Amino acid sequence: MPDTTAENPGCALVTGSARGIGAAIAEKLAAAGHNVVINHTSERSAETAAELAGRIAATCDVDTCVVAADISDFDAAKTLVDAALERFGAIDILVNNAGITRDGLLMRMKEEQFSEVVDTDLKGVFNVTRHAVGPMMKQRHGRIINISSVSGIAGNAGQANYSAAKAGVIGFTKAIARELAPRNITSNAVAPGFVRTDMTADMNQDVLEEMCKQIPLGRMAEPSDIADAVAFFASDQAGYITGQVLQVDGGMAI
Ligand code: NAP
Repeated sequence: MPDTTAENPGCALVTGSARGIGAAIAEKLAAAGHNVVINHTSERSAETAAELAGRIAATCDVDTCVVAADISDFDAAKTLVDAALERFGAIDILVNNAGITRDGLLMRMKEEQFSEVVDTDLKGVFNVTRHAVGPMMKQRHGRIINISSVSGIAGNAGQANYSAAKAGVIGFTKAIARELAPRNITSNAVAPGFVRTDMTADMNQDVLEEMCKQIPLGRMAEPSDIADAVAFFASDQAGYITGQVLQVDGGMAI
C-alpha cells in the first residue's frame, strides 16, 4: 500500500454499503485501517448508513463519510467519486458492490426488468470505475474488487438479467485487469453463492431452503464471509493477484 499523508490519507470506496454485504465489507476494511466511503441510494438507508458510520467510528481509528448516489447514473457516479476524492484525497480501494435483482422467467421478463438490473449491476460498475480510474492511474496504485455472483458463472433459472449482468462483471474485471496492470492496479472479482441479506430474504424461502441443501458446506454465507475475501484482495498479500474470480459459495458451484 502507498505512503499516505495527512492531506491525502486515501480511502476505500464501497458502493451499496449501507446494509448487507457492502456494510460488512465497509466494517472489515475499516478494521484493517482504511478510511471508508459508505454509499447508498435510497432515502430509507440514510439512517442505516449513519449508524454504520457511527459503529465504525466507535470501534476503528479511521474516518468515514456517507454519500448518497445512484451508481446506475453516470453523472451521479461522478459525484460519488468526487466526494471521496474531496474528503480523502485518493481512492486506494474501490469495491463495486451495489446490486439489485428483478427476478422472473424469461418468458415473462419485462424489458425494464432486464434494463434496471443491467444498468445497476453492470453499467453501475463501469460508471464508478470509469470515474475512479483516472486518479488511480495517476497515483500508480489501486485495488478494484467487483462483486459478481455464482449466477454469473453457472447461470440461474429466473435470473437471465442478473446472470447476464454478473457474467458481464467478470469480463469487465478481466479486461481492466490487463489494461491497468502496468499502473500497478489490480482488478479481481468475488462471486458469492447465497448470502443472508435483504436480497435473499426477498426470495421464496422454500426454494431457498431446497437450494441450500445442495451447498456442500451445508449453510448460506454470512456477509462477513464475503467481506473476508474482499479484504484479502485489498490486502498487501494479494498484490500479485489480478484478473481472478474467487467463488465464495460453500462449494455450491464446484
Ligand atoms: P442488499 O442487501 O439488497 O443491499 C444492496 C445494496 O446496494 C444496498 O445498500 C443498496 O442501497 C445498494 N444499491 C442498490 N442499487 C443501488 C444504486 N443504483 N446505487 C447505489 N447503491 C445501490 O444486497 P446484498 O445481498 O448485500 O448484495 C450486495 C452485492 O452482492 C450485490 O451486487 C449482489 O448482486 C451481490 N450478491 C449477493 C448475493 C446474496 O445472496 N445476497 C449473492 C451473490 C451476489 P440502498 O440501501 O440505498 O437501497
